Amino acid sequence: MNAERSAIVLTGCTVVDGRVLEGVAPLVDAAVWVRGERIEAVGPAPEVLAAAGAAGDFRQVDLAGAYLTPGLVNMHTHLSLSLPGQGGDAVKGLGAYELAHYMADGARRTLLCGVTTVRCVAEKDHADFALRRAITSGWVTGPRIFTAGQALVCTGGHGHEGTDTLECDGADGFRRGVRRQVKAGADLIKVMISGGIAGEHESIHTRQLFPDELAAVIETAHAWGRKVTAHAGPAPVIAEAVERGLDCVEHGYQLTPEVTALMAERGTALVPTLLVTRCEEFFDQLGVPEWMRRRSLDAGPRHLESYAMALAAGVEVLLGSDMPPFWQFEGTNASVRELEHMSESGLGPARALYAGTLGPVRWLGAEADLGTVEPGKCADLIAMDGDPLTATSAFRSVRWVMSGGRIVRDDRTGWNAS
Ligand SMILES: [Zn+2]
Repeated sequence: MNAERSAIVLTGCTVVDGRVLEGVAPLVDAAVWVRGERIEAVGPAPEVLAAAGAAGDFRQVDLAGAYLTPGLVNMHTHLSLSLPGQGGDAVKGLGAYELAHYMADGARRTLLCGVTTVRCVAEKDHADFALRRAITSGWVTGPRIFTAGQALVCTGGHGHEGTDTLECDGADGFRRGVRRQVKAGADLIKVMISGGIAGEHESIHTRQLFPDELAAVIETAHAWGRKVTAHAGPAPVIAEAVERGLDCVEHGYQLTPEVTALMAERGTALVPTLLVTRCEEFFDQLGVPEWMRRRSLDAGPRHLESYAMALAAGVEVLLGSDMPPFWQFEGTNASVRELEHMSESGLGPARALYAGTLGPVRWLGAEADLGTVEPGKCADLIAMDGDPLTATSAFRSVRWVMSGGRIVRDDRTGWNAS
């Protein structure tokens, strides 16, 4: 578990990151010198090897022709997800200690997939804060966690059945809800402002918050320096929230050209979670009820149209799977499958790389530490055989993962941190 974090020089790789959109070309025959948790240097192999050698001992790791990118960032994660149906009921039935272990197992699997950072947007019982402490303390292997704690929802609103949401009513109630998450350690606030797929007594287009409640969430969160993201489907509800300063929209099932233009103008990001309306196999595995399966799959075509409108308007789109990020699905994991959908539905490979790495990191305000392969950044790196600028499916070939300078997976040696 506690593999040493001495100096390592990675060789035999092509380095590429989201700055490719800003004119930074991939670096072929590169080397990356990692010292402790961070990247010390990136450049042509002879130069980097010489500099590392002059500084002392190091271990050379030959990546054998791999493409090296920053680790993926999944912006819509639930490690304690429990959808309606048998699979979800089993999670709901876990005791507190069991839930902690269950989430730790998901965190480890997530990291081994090459997802080195997650943004959790509704987790049960504040167990996410304990998990984050366990990861940063080195007790548990997992990704970096940015979390909203519990999502805020009106009484009976979307997701109210579980302990991953907090029911609030009235402006005061929502202010208190925001403050309770911040008190527990939340990095951002998640609020449900419309109905969704997984709620039996609602429809996707149900408005769920009154204007004063919505304003209370956004103003209180911003006053504490926290961004707000909203579970939201219909365009009029989203438009109102964007006008009030909402920072991010989840799903966006029913966007219009008008609301996407407004989002682009205000810099409101979209985490489209395209998988949610095209994950039949996952619903089968969990045994979700028929009404939910139908509502989900029926929403698929309109959901994809919304995504296309967002791209056309220039809205920033970010990777987020909603499904557990590590879930094995259609020959890969949910994070990579979502990125493939985003890429193939109009984004293309270079922008998909950005949407899965640097874009999310910028939204999280973590660019000083994460998101690119540059000196001074944390060494959260993944290596794959395919070229991610040719096809996003290259991420299916991830075979090596480093987190904070520690190699946690290397398929060539059979090592993984499990
Ligand atoms: Zn979700």
